[in-house]
Amino acid sequence: MKSKVTQKSNIVVTDAAPPYEAIMAVLDSSDKILVASHLDPDGDAIGTQLAFAAFLKHVGKDVYTVRDNDIPFKYRFLSGVNEIPRFDAYRGNELFDAAVILECPNLSRIGRARSLLNGGIRVINIDHHRDNDLFGEVNWLNSEASSVGEMTYELFQLAGYSIPPAVAEQLYTAIMTDTGRFRYRSTSPRAMEIAGELIEAGADPQKICDHVYYNLQPSTMKLIGKVLNSIEFHHDGTICLLTLTKEMLSVTGADESESDGLVDYTLFNAGVRAGALLKEIDANTTKISFRSKDGINVAAIAARFGGGGHYNASGCTLGMPIEEARGKMLKILEKEIDRLE
Ligand code: 5GP
Repeated sequence: MKSKVTQKSNIVVTDAAPPYEAIMAVLDSSDKILVASHLDPDGDAIGTQLAFAAFLKHVGKDVYTVRDNDIPFKYRFLSGVNEIPRFDAYRGNELFDAAVILECPNLSRIGRARSLLNGGIRVINIDHHRDNDLFGEVNWLNSEASSVGEMTYELFQLAGYSIPPAVAEQLYTAIMTDTGRFRYRSTSPRAMEIAGELIEAGADPQKICDHVYYNLQPSTMKLIGKVLNSIEFHHDGTICLLTLTKEMLSVTGADESESDGLVDYTLFNAGVRAGALLKEIDANTTKISFRSKDGINVAAIAARFGGGGHYNASGCTLGMPIEEARGKMLKILEKEIDRLE
């Protein structure tokens, strides 16, 4: 991983150190800047998007943010979060000078907001997914980083940005959520050190943790109940499947964003090595979130279906009804576990 490759048309840096000059060269020569992250936004996507937008405003830029989905309730305490416009609030003919795309391995991951990237816009791509397809003019990839929040913090340090408490809170949220509350293997000494520095800068760890994990709406609790009721164990208890149907959303009154993190329950069970949450999007579309332990590479499984993610957490969308998707995924997971035995 630690190498620097300069291509003819774009800059690719796969290193822990930010390509500070290349990023700043694009930002310095741009006024109107769009900051975007991925569909179904999580804490890293939202926290880092807000922090980056705050930094760019601080240095005098005309900053725009965008989202293609609802922001999960648990992140709505973050400063500025209610001002992120939906993609359809834009007319589509705005001409941005540059776009900072965070935590997206490819441009499809920003959803319909992709249509805003026109008119020779210069793209900065900052990500920690191994499968990033280098879509930017400047591409900074650090697959060792716990989160894009951690990477952004390193960039802010080089920029000499004195991080205000609201931004410390946003970046702490990004790191805390993408490390699974400082639990995943990606929880490096540096990630912990940065979290400590963010606390010094004003992030309140208890407040943030409580907002994200212990401040559920009644509809979310009801949805958790329904989804847990669907639990299935297969293959001698090594595979756990959960199902989320549109009917579950309608009877609980929950919206789709309230399902963020539900897939994690699949790995709460002793003996489970691979888990999947199957979400019914419509009669012929199923979204799948995978989680795994040990040597099961769910990023590779998701990639076979046009998705992606990390080794132990990934996702993809299948153009088939939920029952068919469940059968197909179960077979694939069973085969994968057998292959490793
Ligand atoms: P989650 O299951 O929490 O939604 O996502 C787990 C990981 O997989 C995240 O890194 C997320 O960005 C990635 N991921 C989820 N769905 C997709 C997808 O459809 N395409 C790609 N490329 N990555 C995905």
